[in-house]
Amino acid sequence: MKHSFVRKLFLLCAVVPFIGAVSAQKPIKALLITGQNNHNWKVSHAAIKQILENARLFTVDLAVSPEKGQDMSQFILDFTPYQLVIVDYNGDAWPEETNKRFTEFVKNGGGAVVYHAADNAFANWKEYNEMTALGGWEGRDEKAGPYVYWKDGKIVKDYSPGSGGSHGNQHQYVLTLRDPKHPIVNGLSAKWKHAQDELYDRMRGPGNIANLLYTAYSDESTKGSGREESLLFTVEYGKGRIFHTMLGHAGATLEDNTAMFCTGFQVTLLRGAEWAATGKVTQKVPKDFPTETEATYRKNYK
Ligand code: ZN
Repeated sequence: MKHSFVRKLFLLCAVVPFIGAVSAQKPIKALLITGQNNHNWKVSHAAIKQILENARLFTVDLAVSPEKGQDMSQFILDFTPYQLVIVDYNGDAWPEETNKRFTEFVKNGGGAVVYHAADNAFANWKEYNEMTALGGWEGRDEKAGPYVYWKDGKIVKDYSPGSGGSHGNQHQYVLTLRDPKHPIVNGLSAKWKHAQDELYDRMRGPGNIANLLYTAYSDESTKGSGREESLLFTVEYGKGRIFHTMLGHAGATLEDNTAMFCTGFQVTLLRGAEWAATGKVTQKVPKDFPTETEATYRKNYK
């Protein structure tokens, strides 16, 4: 009897570390690029880093650019240690070498997340616009590509002339699921209420969306476009996967940051980031995900 117990214990001890090693997922190495923005990047980059690291799925290094107007020539980034790059940047052009390296990184299978005003950046960098699919402001017009929105159950590409990028008043709005089988959104609510935020509209660009995940109606009563706008989607570029989220306008401080507190923003960011890095989503659908009628918040970013 005693012998058998000792033997079982021995087996258990031998087996447990093995199981532990198999189930413990190695964190995804991510690089977050920031340092210039027409937004409060000091808040947004810190919030994103906390959201990703609190989920224990990622480690996030920072690449902080020189300030606007300063010498950018030394801002040469090495993407080789990373599976994922998060762009929280809208400012001066990066050095050509960094542009080339970033393009190669994604083309060769690296993951990228395009966050909020990062899709305003680099209006004249062709490859970057192909990685974001849609952009706004910075002089964009019909030469940037079509408007891309949802109408009558499908994606519409509208080549009519006009400027690209605007938004109405900040307000709460409902996002509607358009591609329920995609791993990023599989199991998430078909409709959920987002915390008060900007709703980007009239964005235009190459329009090469791979999977349109969520749209939202931009109501003219809030000075919107009257269209169902493409707000969360994926892009494929070479072997690379890109998750583009237009949500998450940064607040004044980490404690006053309503749009980024939104559970829907955080959960879709986490799932989109994991998918961009690995092609899979291992995260469970959380119980606190917002419903169609009620926004929910994670004010401690976890
Ligand atoms: Zn904004």
